Amino acid sequence: MVKETIRVYARVKPLSRRQQAGIYSVDDNEKSLSSLEIIVPRDLADGFVNNKRESYKFKFQKIFDQEAKQDVVFDSIAKPVAECVLAGYNGTIFAYGQTGSGKTFTITGGAERYSDRGIVPRTLSYIFDQLQKDSSKVYTTHVSYLEIYNECGYDLLDPRHEASKLEDLPKVTIMEDPDQNIHLKNLSLQQATNEEEALNLLFLGDTNRMIAETPMNQASTRSHCIFTIHISSKEPGSATIRRSKLHLVDLAGSERVAKTGVGGHLLTEAKYINLSLHYLEQVIIALAEKNRSHIPYRNSMMTSVLRDSLGGNCMTTMIATLSIDKRNIDESISTCRFAQRVALIKNEAVLNEEIDPRLMIVQLRKEVQELKDELALVTGKQRTSELSQEELLQLDELIETFLEDNDPDSTLDVGADMRKINYCFIHVKQLMNHSKISDKKLLSQHISEERDTNKEAREEELKKLKELLQQRDNEINILVNMLKKEKKKAQDALFQLNAASAGSTVLETSLSINLEESQSPSSCFSLKEAKDFSSSVHRLPFFSRQTGGKMSLGCQEAFEVFKRDHADNITIEDNKRLLKQRFTEAKCLGEKLNEVRNKINHLKGEITQRHIQRAALAVCSPSEELNMLDPVEEKLRTQIEEEKKSYKTMFNRLKGLKVEIEHLQLLMEKVKMKLQKDFEVWWSEEAINLQQEKPEMVSSPNTATVYPQFIKSSQHLSTNSFSETKRVSPNEDPAGKNNSITSTNPTLKTRTPPSSSTSIPLTGDSQADADILAFIKARQNILQKKGLGNK
Ligand code: ADP
Ligand code: MG
Repeated sequence: MVKETIRVYARVKPLSRRQQAGIYSVDDNEKSLSSLEIIVPRDLADGFVNNKRESYKFKFQKIFDQEAKQDVVFDSIAKPVAECVLAGYNGTIFAYGQTGSGKTFTITGGAERYSDRGIVPRTLSYIFDQLQKDSSKVYTTHVSYLEIYNECGYDLLDPRHEASKLEDLPKVTIMEDPDQNIHLKNLSLQQATNEEEALNLLFLGDTNRMIAETPMNQASTRSHCIFTIHISSKEPGSATIRRSKLHLVDLAGSERVAKTGVGGHLLTEAKYINLSLHYLEQVIIALAEKNRSHIPYRNSMMTSVLRDSLGGNCMTTMIATLSIDKRNIDESISTCRFAQRVALIKNEAVLNEEIDPRLMIVQLRKEVQELKDELALVTGKQRTSELSQEELLQLDELIETFLEDNDPDSTLDVGADMRKINYCFIHVKQLMNHSKISDKKLLSQHISEERDTNKEAREEELKKLKELLQQRDNEINILVNMLKKEKKKAQDALFQLNAASAGSTVLETSLSINLEESQSPSSCFSLKEAKDFSSSVHRLPFFSRQTGGKMSLGCQEAFEVFKRDHADNITIEDNKRLLKQRFTEAKCLGEKLNEVRNKINHLKGEITQRHIQRAALAVCSPSEELNMLDPVEEKLRTQIEEEKKSYKTMFNRLKGLKVEIEHLQLLMEKVKMKLQKDFEVWWSEEAINLQQEKPEMVSSPNTATVYPQFIKSSQHLSTNSFSETKRVSPNEDPAGKNNSITSTNPTLKTRTPPSSSTSIPLTGDSQADADILAFIKARQNILQKKGLGNK
């Protein structure tokens, strides 16, 4: 049993350029607790908190200041918890703090750099690494990803859904069994046999989480997300299973309602968040109190879900995330206060072990059979559960003789057979009950009568027992079948583990596939990227709804421009470059590995050659020298050892590269998704704006008659006639100076044409052309904002 208080850490987010730094100081103490002092400036202290106190001091296990990197945070916070979980204890790590203070960054990670990956991917990596190293047990790993929003749970890993709204995901409900264990209905537990599968699931969940969110509905800041890793382990052949789970929790923003200044729908949400965080606090306080029998877990969904993982049987760790700029001093103080209350709880973590009933039955059956065999061996007879008629008669005779014998030393010897011994006892008992009947004849008559009735009763009992036996046999058969299936699953898992650790060839093959992809002459990388891109565009719920699954030409073009100007494009380009670099590096390493392998093989060949030579020499002209160690062979062996060492180093590096490459690919996919989503939002906003300004433009199906002003102005924009080419080239009218003279439409008057490199295709299809118009307008807005537009 492990007993300790909940560990509480603090992490201070780096300030952005625009933020004004608050005053704080960190007293980092390696040996004991560290302390964080926050100074409330005088101008703020008048307004709130307490105008008498100006400095607040809080103790933490450790404080990660602004420059702390993700790997350091993982090593100090998550690694010890992951180790406990691997040993069979439950664990929870939760991040608490106001919106924007770095909870998601800490738990999941940043979306841009590989080095920014957070606790979840690092923990998965660590856990699978450890599992691979331990071949003494069979491990099964599952993950689940739950989002709680307005007290409703949603399964982020539901494979059937490409959700466009959170509400589209399956609703998760809480069920409680008679033993008060919590079960989550509809929350899928997905098996992950290796790191890659687990990371893909995390990615799926994060994508669902992102897609379900719109700028108007930033659900993620107001919802709690719980990523759970479930591990079960068993030694081969043992009936004991150890189960443990690790919850990685990204809580909703802890800011107070008053501060956010919201109303209506948002206020309802805020109430829910604040309530559920309040209930979390209540549970934590109740856990901290001694002799408290009732813990109010049931008040909220989150406390119910974390029931077995908050207090009691769990290693719990909290990270208080702080954004210490001047405006957030009060929130930072309240986050620290919460953290201090959490630090008071003492936890007792115990191992979660249980006996597998199926295995137990098999073991018992085996034991029974072994005992029977042993018995048969000793007695030389196969034993049935019933005595035969013949044996019964023999026994009757023996008892009779024994009772008749007047010698006080006489014995009744029926052999070491419990069935016979029991039979004799029953008889003697019956005789005792009828002890008054002394007449021998009467006695023997009685015995035979008794045996007849006994026989009837026995037959009745026999029938019942047979039925019972049949029932048990059926049960056992069912259980054995289940067991077989389970065993097969375990074997499969083991096989996969072995396959993974057999590693070198598999890894190399998979890498070489990637490498081939990257080295193909027509730059397959961007080709593949393009494919991914277009397929994910088609997946987008927005476009499927709007255009029946197809983007109009105008929309596509707008997207290209939007993409080029989007801030994330730099990230994509950076990552693309990095990915290419990694590919090249991996390819180089792969080649080097092959070289080293060939070299080793060559050296081995040389040694064999040497053996043959020496053996031949020994036959022809035996000499003392030939029995001694061969210095040449020794040298060759040392060389092999060295080559092996470098092989191992390169191989490990290659393995690391593979993980990094996969992660980078996931990151890119994520950023692209985000880009598309941003585009959708921007696009629909522009469409709405346009509709509000010129409703008749969009509503009429006839383009030619509806856009007279536009055609006019576009004719001036272009030297080509619109009706001839249906294309407007803005290049021809760089300053747009003709607009104000001929255009009759005041809203179009001020418009600038799209950027010089973009030509606008008008298709005659009203939807597509409406798209184009929206695009032109939006483009102008952007240019104007950037100060590039024509006034
Ligand atoms: P929260 O989840 O608490 O609302 P986020 O994790 O989304 O906050 O952080 C807000 C922003 O700050 C994000 O853009 C994130 O990348 C950035 N950020 C947070 N913590 C750090 C950090 N330690 N280093 C660099 N950037 C950070
Ligand atoms: Mg967040």
